[in-house]
Amino acid sequence: MTISSFKPTPRTLMGPGPSDVSPRVLEALARPTIGHLDSEFVSMMDEMKQLLQYAFKTKNELTFPVSAPGSAGMETCFANLVEPGDKVIVCQNGVFGGRMKENVTRCGGIAVMVEDEWGKAVDIAKLEQALKDNPDAKIVAFVHAETSTGAQSDAKALTALAHQYDCLVIVDAVTSLAGTELRVDDWGIDAIYSGTQKCLSAPPGLSPVSFNERAAEVIKNRKTPVQSWFLDLSLVMGYWGSGAKRAYHHTAPVNNLYGLHESLVVLQEEGIENSWARHAKMHLALRAGIEALGLEFIVDEADRLPQLNAVTIPDGVDDAAVRAKLLNDYNLEIGAGLGALAGKVWRIGLMGFGCNAKNIEYCLNALDEVLTGMGAKINSGVAVDAAKAKLT
Ligand SMILES: *Cc1c(COP(=O)(O)O)cnc(C)c1O
Repeated sequence: MTISSFKPTPRTLMGPGPSDVSPRVLEALARPTIGHLDSEFVSMMDEMKQLLQYAFKTKNELTFPVSAPGSAGMETCFANLVEPGDKVIVCQNGVFGGRMKENVTRCGGIAVMVEDEWGKAVDIAKLEQALKDNPDAKIVAFVHAETSTGAQSDAKALTALAHQYDCLVIVDAVTSLAGTELRVDDWGIDAIYSGTQKCLSAPPGLSPVSFNERAAEVIKNRKTPVQSWFLDLSLVMGYWGSGAKRAYHHTAPVNNLYGLHESLVVLQEEGIENSWARHAKMHLALRAGIEALGLEFIVDEADRLPQLNAVTIPDGVDDAAVRAKLLNDYNLEIGAGLGALAGKVWRIGLMGFGCNAKNIEYCLNALDEVLTGMGAKINSGVAVDAAKAKLT
C-alpha cells in the first residue's frame, strides 16, 4: 500500500485549543528551514525575546519559548524552582491545578492543596488561611485562566498576597496570555508559563516562559541539580540567554519558532490591550447568542473568561453526537467537558485569530441547526441576531 500525503480538512477551531492559525502564520511556518545557529536565526531569537516581553508586559531577561508545549513550560517552572522537601501551596479549581500538584510531587516537593469548586475563581481567603497555616511554604502556584472550566482568577491579588507571606509565585497563563489582562512586572509575578496554541494562535508545540530576578536567584542558589536535563534553565540559557554564546543545547524547532514570531508580530500590530478588548467584546456577542438559544454559562459573570466559554448541555441531548455532527457536517470543533465537567458542558473557545464575528455567527448557527435537528428544546432562529446586535 502506498500512503499519500496527509491533507487535513480545514476546520474552524472553537475548542480549548489549538485555535485557528491565520494564513499569515501558516505562511511563516513554510519559510525555508535554516540552521538554529545561523546568524539570521540568532537575530530572530533576539526579536522573539522582545516580542515575548511585550506580550507578558515584562522586562525580565529570562524570557524565552521552551521547545515543547505548555505542559513543558509548567514543568520548567516547577523543575527549576522546587527542590526536594520544598512546600508549595497549589490552588486548584480545575484540571490544570491538579497537574501542578503532580509536578510538585514529582520534584520531591510537598504540595499543600487549596481547593475550590470547579467553575469558581480561586478563593483569596482560602489561600490566606493556607499561608497562615504553612509559614514554611516557599511557593504559591495557581492557574490564571482555567481552561477546563472557563473561570478566571485574580492573579494580581493572589500574587500580592503570596508575597506578603514571602512566597514565590508560579502562574499558569497558557490560556490567559493575549486573551485577558496580564501584567507580569506590574503584578510582580515571579515565574510564568504560557502556550502558543491558545490566544497567540500559533501552532502547538512551544511554551513561552518568563522568570524575574528573584526567581532566577532562587534557581542559582539551588542545593541540588535540576532533575530534568532538558528543562534545566542553567543549561538552556547557554543557548537562549542574553549575551550567551548560543551554544548547542538542543536543535531549536526552527520553523515552529517562525510561526510564533509571526503571531507575536501580529499581536504587536494589533496592540495587546486591543487584543484583550477584542476578546471581551466578542465574548459578549457569543454570550448574547448562547443565552438567546436558551443555554447557560456555568461560571459566575464576574469570573468568566472571554476566551473560554463553558456552557451547559441541554437536558436529554447527546453530548458526543452533537460534537461529532458539528465536526463532520460543519467542520467545526468545540470542546467537551473535562474531568468533573465531562458530559455536562461544552467549551467554546474564542481565542486569538479565531476570536471574530464570523466564527461566532458560524458557531451559533451550527449549534442552532444541529440541536434543532435533534429535537432539543432550544429557541431556534434568534441566536445569530442576538449576537449581531452586540457587534454593531
Ligand atoms: C492547554 C493548557 C495547558 C497545557 O498546554 P499544552 O500545550 O496542551 O501542553 C496548561 N494549562 C492550561 C491552563 C491550559 O489551558
